[in-house]
Amino acid sequence: MNLLTKILLWMFPIALPVMGFTWSYYQAQLDAGAEHTGNVGVLVSASGAQRLNDFLRLRASEFTLISGKFAVCESSPSKELYQLKARNALQQSRGFSALIVSGIDGKVQLGQVAGTPSNRFMLPRSLANSWLFTAAQLERLNSGFNIWQEKAPLLRKEKSKLFLEALSLERRGEINSSKYNNIQSQIFNITNLLKQPPAVIYFNGGLHAEVMGLPYRRDTFLFTRPLVSCEGELAGYITAFLDRTQIEDILYELRQSLYDRGIHQVDIALMNRESQKYETETRYLTDRSLHGIVKMSASAGYQRKFGGFLAIQPIADAKVLNQLMEGADATEQGVSAAEYQEYIDRFSTMSLLVFIADEEWHETSKRLLLKVSVWLLLSLLFLFVLVFFLARNIVRPIVKLKRSVAKVEAGDLMVQADISSNDEVGQLARAFNRMTRALQLSENELQRLARVDELTGLLNRRALIEEAINERHRASRSEYGISLAILDLDYFKQINDRYGHAAGDLVLKQFADMLQEKLRKTDIVGRIGGEEFVILLPDTSPESAVKLIDKLRISCAETMIGLDDGILLSVKFSAGVVVWSADTGFEEALHRADEKLYQAKENGRNCVKS
Ligand code: GH3
Ligand code: MG
Ligand code: MG
Repeated sequence: MNLLTKILLWMFPIALPVMGFTWSYYQAQLDAGAEHTGNVGVLVSASGAQRLNDFLRLRASEFTLISGKFAVCESSPSKELYQLKARNALQQSRGFSALIVSGIDGKVQLGQVAGTPSNRFMLPRSLANSWLFTAAQLERLNSGFNIWQEKAPLLRKEKSKLFLEALSLERRGEINSSKYNNIQSQIFNITNLLKQPPAVIYFNGGLHAEVMGLPYRRDTFLFTRPLVSCEGELAGYITAFLDRTQIEDILYELRQSLYDRGIHQVDIALMNRESQKYETETRYLTDRSLHGIVKMSASAGYQRKFGGFLAIQPIADAKVLNQLMEGADATEQGVSAAEYQEYIDRFSTMSLLVFIADEEWHETSKRLLLKVSVWLLLSLLFLFVLVFFLARNIVRPIVKLKRSVAKVEAGDLMVQADISSNDEVGQLARAFNRMTRALQLSENELQRLARVDELTGLLNRRALIEEAINERHRASRSEYGISLAILDLDYFKQINDRYGHAAGDLVLKQFADMLQEKLRKTDIVGRIGGEEFVILLPDTSPESAVKLIDKLRISCAETMIGLDDGILLSVKFSAGVVVWSADTGFEEALHRADEKLYQAKENGRNCVKS
């Protein structure tokens, strides 16, 4: 594995913490997102419950006003009059979509359905004489009426008593006292209670709504109150259908406010704990989860078993509204907001559900994961490219140096490493160059030593053979070919014996110098043995060669060699000369020359034989 790959592999342990960091960032973002979504859910459920409760409370007071108009004793109550009253009431109403008058048997007599002002229509004929209440509901209405009827004389008495008390306080000028105020509000409440028998509210009427062609097919709040005849007897019932679309509108707006915050996978629903069903459409909340939710009280949090975040807020149901109406006809003075809320908390079986499904998180987490992954990939890519170029910059001079080393290994000592920096690699390259230079020098010296005869500085036997072979190649083009002479000093042993070995060496050295001096530049001379020398004479005919060597012999013999202690002596040699013909090897030519030398020695020495 090369260095660059190694460095790049090191990237992985570096990438791991980066990836770990990104992952924890992703998780933190998810948690924050979930927390935020949860907070929004809580907020929306709380404000939604508030709005629904306010809406229902307003409907309760509105119904008191409407039914009050029907309660007024008419001298001759007719169908037409009721119809007219119903029409007027609906025109002024903001929260009811139908009014039905029933007889004392609870059967529908007449009614009016709200529409656009130009499109108001009467109840369909098919509803006439149908039962609007169940037997139990009817009984409850009747018993409420009976109690009211029984209590009325007592209340009237109480009212006149209070009235007299108030009068005496007035006379005493105590109209600002708390006692006076208290009496006045008691009188007000009694007046209200006396005005109309108590109303009863049901969550019902889905079937009738459908027949009436109302824009909802589900149950709604039915506000019902007994009607009183001029004789103070039960004359029938007036029932108002709460406009359910307005509840749906509130729920729609709640959903919209979640959409506006980018939360889409939601259910905003009403749940009826008593009838154990959802009162509105749900997308994510299933009937299976309903069984679980029914058992839960007001709460908010992530529900693993239902697969989402769920906020449950109680809202006013029929029971609560009945309680409210019983208090003092739902007027602001009768029941305070705090008391109303207490009713809701105590009695309500209806809840507003805000459910944010897991799908919402899947969406967001998918989007977030994509975003985070793209960033992670980009940063890793950036890191990778950065490390790659950094590593390449470091590795490149090392690779160059490695190539130079390989060249040296292959024998090329002329290599010089590139010095492009002054760092450790640059210093290494410099040291490498010094090393190759030193190697080169010693190699040159070794080569020289391998070729040169140490004593005389002439070519040694091996170098001479090499030169001879080279000369042989060149000579193939020359006219005369090569002549070869072998020289052997005469009676050299005697010099050694007489003056010592060192003197013998000196003589050999001086003789070699003499040869080099006296021979031609083109001639090649080497020492092949103790006091034996070989001379190659390129492009020289045999006659010229013999002449030349003989001239050399005479010249050498005439030249005096001086020893260290001032002794002068001359050196003589015998020589054999041959023509080195192209078809023979060097050793063979040498051998033939040696034979000639032998003849020269035989011939008395100091002569040249060919
Ligand atoms: P010849 O005329 O027959 O050649 O007589 P020679 O004395 O030269 O006899 P030979 O060739 O047999 O002897 C060579 C002598 O040269 C023997 C040896 O001691 C001496 N010799 C050989 N090499 C060296 C050397 O390198 N230095 C010295 N000082 N003497 C050497
Ligand atoms: Mg010899
Ligand atoms: Mg000799």
